Amino acid sequence: MYRTHNCGELNLNNKDSKVTLSGWVQKVRLLGGMNFIDLRDRYGITQVTCNQDINNEIFELSKQLGREFVIQIEGIVKERSSKNNNIPTGEIEIEATHLKIINSSKTPPFTIEEKTDGGEDIRMKYRYLDLRRKPLQEKIILRSKMSAEIRSYLTNQDFLEIETPFLIKSTPEGARDFVVPSRMNENEFYALPQSPQTFKQLLMVSGYDKYFQIVRCFRDEDLRADRQPEFTQLDCEMSFVDQESILNTFEGLMKHMFQKFLNVNLNDFPRMTYEDAMAKYGSDKPDTRFNMQFVELNEQLKNKGFVVFDKAELVVGINAEGCSSYSRKQLDKLTDFVKKPQVGAQGLVYIKYNEDGTFKSSVDKFFNSEQLQEIAKLFNAKPGDLMLVLAGNKDKTRKALNELRLEMGSILNLRDPKVFSPLWVIDFPLLEHDEETDKWHAMHHPFTSPKKEDIHLLDTAPEQVKANAYDLVVNGVEIGGGSIRIHERELQQKMFSALGFTEQEAEEQFGFLLGAFEYGAPPHGGIAFGFDRWAALFSGVESIRDCIAFPKNNSGRDVMLNAPASINNEQLKELNLSLASEN
Ligand code: ASP
Repeated sequence: MYRTHNCGELNLNNKDSKVTLSGWVQKVRLLGGMNFIDLRDRYGITQVTCNQDINNEIFELSKQLGREFVIQIEGIVKERSSKNNNIPTGEIEIEATHLKIINSSKTPPFTIEEKTDGGEDIRMKYRYLDLRRKPLQEKIILRSKMSAEIRSYLTNQDFLEIETPFLIKSTPEGARDFVVPSRMNENEFYALPQSPQTFKQLLMVSGYDKYFQIVRCFRDEDLRADRQPEFTQLDCEMSFVDQESILNTFEGLMKHMFQKFLNVNLNDFPRMTYEDAMAKYGSDKPDTRFNMQFVELNEQLKNKGFVVFDKAELVVGINAEGCSSYSRKQLDKLTDFVKKPQVGAQGLVYIKYNEDGTFKSSVDKFFNSEQLQEIAKLFNAKPGDLMLVLAGNKDKTRKALNELRLEMGSILNLRDPKVFSPLWVIDFPLLEHDEETDKWHAMHHPFTSPKKEDIHLLDTAPEQVKANAYDLVVNGVEIGGGSIRIHERELQQKMFSALGFTEQEAEEQFGFLLGAFEYGAPPHGGIAFGFDRWAALFSGVESIRDCIAFPKNNSGRDVMLNAPASINNEQLKELNLSLASEN
């Protein structure tokens, strides 16, 4: 028997019992005739003592131990003389009566403790060692508990977990596909699913009614900081539902999970239309932990002689409460911030509402204090506040002010990671226009249903068509999104044609789905959650990488495996592939 207990469970209740433990040597400390070993496994750390006076043989053997050796200890549980209150096993230690080295270890390239001296790269290369560290183990364990809880919650509500294939034909979710060459079908390729979207819809046509899957999805996108080429979704679909029932079902799941894992009781989630979100926050995923809503000022500030405002499509600002005493330097810093290319504003106008009730602004030349007073009123500003105003093209200015708002939120500590502010964003536009290609794209995906009352606008005013689509946003992060789907062949065809597909192209790519809609497709809809991000949110970390056992780095590489990698000529030949350079 390797062990009677794990390294995290013994305490004074076990005093004087004989136990066997197995685990890794985290540390050895030689103090006179006594060798102290910190023995670690996934459950915790237990202190072991090898006392020269009690057993010299074990004492001598223990001197050979190095960090990360795998050992087995037999011994007696003793009360410690100096206790450690920080760990559950801190009141006891094991006085070793047997010691066996099960396997030795090279000196690890970084310390495997809570705080490590290893840099990011080396830890990625030796991910299996990094995964021994408690901070990572906690996240991986939490993730496992989360998926178990989701499974039990949804299964109790009659959802079925059904697997869908990975080797498929392209599903358009707006990214590039990863493709897999088929050896048996010369010059043909599978695509890896960007999501199980069409399959879950087909499962509804097949009558499964309620489906979910915790499933890997693959998207070949340019990697931004927090993206992984393969990531996990909680993917769900339901039949005979409207938007309301979907929002309620998954709001219920979310509340349950917050309660269970964070002990947070959330109120009913507020809802905001896409249009409002853009106008009030300049973003379809606003961080609503703090208010600081946009105030539009075209009427008050345009045509008063200040050319920047006069030329602008939109003049809009936010009120930073209590910031009127900002120095020149602080204001310059904010100006530099908004001028960064990623933010993209031309400049920043400030209006200080001083404590003494006077105004000082960067546009004093054009506006007198009565006018500034009027503006302050619109902002609901009080003496001591600082109004920050941007002007320019509507979309760009909103986007820039969103960045500034988030920056001010951070500066003013209004984005407390312990506070959770969920929000449903609803009524997304069905389509968005791509300036470059002059084409319409599905904002969510091509299977999303337009609102009934807007269908007639599809041909004449596509930009006005709203969709039955929704996102769940928590603290400014999109956690999930979904829609009510189209379930009629004609409407789906109309949608494809709005997206610029010819009838033939639509048939070629989606004939199976169009066909299925002709055999009694029920009304249906669903949602998918980014599970990695959800796990990161519950772990209180920014990066999803910390919540994935074997993630890829920023260039999409697995540095441990050194993948992707080239394959040999034999393999290439078998697949009927040749390297481009050899062509
Ligand atoms: N398949 C969609 C996505 O991956 C989610 C959905 O519409 O259910 O974003």
